[in-house]
Amino acid sequence: MNQPAPLLKAAARPRRISIFGATGTIGQNTLHLIAQSTGAFAVEALVSSTRVRELAEAVKSCGAKLAVIEDESKYEELKHLLAGTGIEAASGKQAVLEAAARPVDMLVSGIVGAAALAPTLVAIRQGVTIGLANKECLVCAGDLMIAEAARYNAKLLPIDSEHNAVFQTLDFAHPETIERITLTASGGPFRTFLREEMVNVTPEQAVAHPNWSMGAKISVDSATMMNKGLEIIEAYHLFPVEKQQIDAIIHPESIVHCLVAYRDGSMLAGLSIPDMRVPIAFALAWPERMETETKRLNLAEIGKLTFEKPDEVKFPALHIARAALEAGGTAPCVLNAANEIAVAAFLEKKLSFLGIAAVVEETLAQLPAEVLTSLEQVYDTDKIARAKARMLAENREKKHYAGAMFSVAKCGSGE
Ligand code: MG
Repeated sequence: MNQPAPLLKAAARPRRISIFGATGTIGQNTLHLIAQSTGAFAVEALVSSTRVRELAEAVKSCGAKLAVIEDESKYEELKHLLAGTGIEAASGKQAVLEAAARPVDMLVSGIVGAAALAPTLVAIRQGVTIGLANKECLVCAGDLMIAEAARYNAKLLPIDSEHNAVFQTLDFAHPETIERITLTASGGPFRTFLREEMVNVTPEQAVAHPNWSMGAKISVDSATMMNKGLEIIEAYHLFPVEKQQIDAIIHPESIVHCLVAYRDGSMLAGLSIPDMRVPIAFALAWPERMETETKRLNLAEIGKLTFEKPDEVKFPALHIARAALEAGGTAPCVLNAANEIAVAAFLEKKLSFLGIAAVVEETLAQLPAEVLTSLEQVYDTDKIARAKARMLAENREKKHYAGAMFSVAKCGSGE
């Protein structure tokens, strides 16, 4: 049999692309796909926050013109690693923004957290198509980002697997026909745990995701289900539906990524194996499609797919996020900032697992939502919420350890 013709042909001019978060899971998968599509892409800039060796390795192998390491203390090392290659090296926050302003056809935004907001906005204002893997910037400043994208005619292509599946199954031409968007959630590693059993879970347990291979932050978000809460907010900004029309369902196999229900009773589902290369390939090739070497979905082999209602008592992050979306304004930004701090504290073993949602909820309670009017306000809110969450996390753990010492003392006294 003849080999079928490649789907994404090496065009007269390859698509120019920059990758922000190049050394993370999204960046590495993107580079892997680009390496397999000979001649279809030309890499302009790769950006990493701290992983200088991996960054140097990546720019050399993909032939990028520019490497940016955000951490300025790593600049000399980067320059040394790239000596004699002719590849430009730069470092610092300003260099990240300048890299985002370089003319390209697509920028993959794969930096974790609210840090992605500024460079992603710079690229949006160039009218660049954004492969959006970062969800936090839509959560923090969704209204502003969507307005800027419309103003500068920049297309946002979701790489988050659920949103990518919605993008592929939603009838954008007839938004009035849509009844509901349902995002699926694996339920994470603690889906079958009792709440009591979650008290002492460790970061090592939390980052061991059953289906997806992802970074530490998003893996913890998946374990608390805050990830799904953030994704509901993300979906609200990306798709033409009301807040109440988006919900989540547990689907432990992570094969169905979304369900879109229409008002005539029809429901369309987006399916694939849980491999981030599938949504990344969709975004890279859009509006065409490209060949990938990913494992194909074999439903007969899988046999059955299961679904269950999320337990919001065990996973309070879901309703905390939904309440922040309802409150609107600065509330989702506070939610995200507090969550980033709480997750970091948990990963450093300075906060318990159940403390994550508690810190987020307390931060939201202490910083009531304000109307959001500018990007400066987003940055200010982010800063204030981080400081507040840090303080609440510290106090909480002090109390926790004081309690623990008390019980040890009680045991020791033989009571
Ligand atoms: Mg997702």
